[in-house]
Amino acid sequence: MKKIALHWQILIGMILGVLFALFAVKYEGGEEFISNWIAPVGTIFINALKLIAIPLILASLIKGISDLKDISKFKNMGLRTILIYIGTTVIAITIGLAAVNLGQPGGGISEKTVTELTEKYAGDSGVQKKLKGAESQQKAGPLQFVVDMVPANIYKAMSDGKMLQVIFFSILFGISLILVKEHEGAPLKALFDSFNAVILKMVDIIMLITPYAVFALLAGVVASSPDSSVLIALLNYAGIVVLGLVIMVVVYVVIVSVYTKKNPFWFLKQISPAQLVAFSTSSSAATLPVTIERVEEHIGVDKEVSSFVLPVGATINMDGTSLYQAVAAVFIMQVLWPEGLGFGNQMTIVLTALLASIGSAAVPGAGMVMLVAVLKAVGFPEELYPVGLALIFAVDRPLDMCRTAVNVTGDAVVSMVVAKSLGKLGEPKIQDWDDSYTGEV
Ligand code: ASP
Repeated sequence: MKKIALHWQILIGMILGVLFALFAVKYEGGEEFISNWIAPVGTIFINALKLIAIPLILASLIKGISDLKDISKFKNMGLRTILIYIGTTVIAITIGLAAVNLGQPGGGISEKTVTELTEKYAGDSGVQKKLKGAESQQKAGPLQFVVDMVPANIYKAMSDGKMLQVIFFSILFGISLILVKEHEGAPLKALFDSFNAVILKMVDIIMLITPYAVFALLAGVVASSPDSSVLIALLNYAGIVVLGLVIMVVVYVVIVSVYTKKNPFWFLKQISPAQLVAFSTSSSAATLPVTIERVEEHIGVDKEVSSFVLPVGATINMDGTSLYQAVAAVFIMQVLWPEGLGFGNQMTIVLTALLASIGSAAVPGAGMVMLVAVLKAVGFPEELYPVGLALIFAVDRPLDMCRTAVNVTGDAVVSMVVAKSLGKLGEPKIQDWDDSYTGEV
């Protein structure tokens, strides 16, 4: 019998998870059953992915760099990557701003809805946590993010999951490995080559449980989501965010077909398991191992490029998040502070949403924490922060799922563009025992 392709298996798992939860919550104890017996499978999956993300960055970046014959190529790649990342993010924000200004979702929100949402969520621990998170972010000085890139202790950096710090260490290590005499570096090079192959195989193994894990993840999300009346009030706003994200995917499709000359539908099919995992986990960091595996083995981007571009992208390139932040900021202003919506402030949003998306952690809900920085930059009244966040809180999780999928797609597209520009976009290298276990080892 022909095996069902992995992305279909994942999609079926997701749909069944949603249906199961919709059915189970109708019964007493259904929600509890899901949180006690189903959701943990999703947590195990996310933990397993996070478990290998850091060793994977270390192994693949050290291998990628030590395979380079010429370090100056790397310098080219770094600058190019950052500039393209900034470029795609600015496009995303512009799309978001255009959509929210044309759609005017704030216009349809009545006083009554504002009061209801405020009563329900302004004091909610979720909203308060976001505000606290934003406060501690804002205390940092302007150069803090550069300081933060250099770890004082690599073990701590790894155990805290600090991706940029691990990237810094791996680049320094990889470059030094090229610079020492060949016989001195050879044992370490062989060790990291082997380490890298094994870690990538671990991704394949973990991917085998993906269809079951996404069932659990989506059942958990549906079981804990607020009642649908709240969702309906925010349908216009959520629709604008989703529309903007879809337009961004169209932009990616154009870039892939025009610049890399690859069939964009083939690209979407190859990257789809990573998109679906991103959608289900709401975390680009947790999805990173899957993104790396898809981009290297199924799309054909050279490791020298993907090992750098993808981890950096997971941390700083969040097109979906920046688009969402632009829409959310303007939506909140449309409802609560329309007098602040001048052209100048919209331009401020472009800049601050760019910085806020770079600063957002690649974990669920981080985009909303950094949204506060955007509101602050335009001078939104501070006493209204809790009300503003309360307005959008109820639909944040589904939107987070969508924007994370776009964030991951953006990283993959940029890795293809950078690879193409350096002549490092080749053919897929699909491994044995990939995507499905055939019983043969
Ligand atoms: N969850 C997003 C990510 O991991 C970040 C966010 O927008 O909240 O990419």
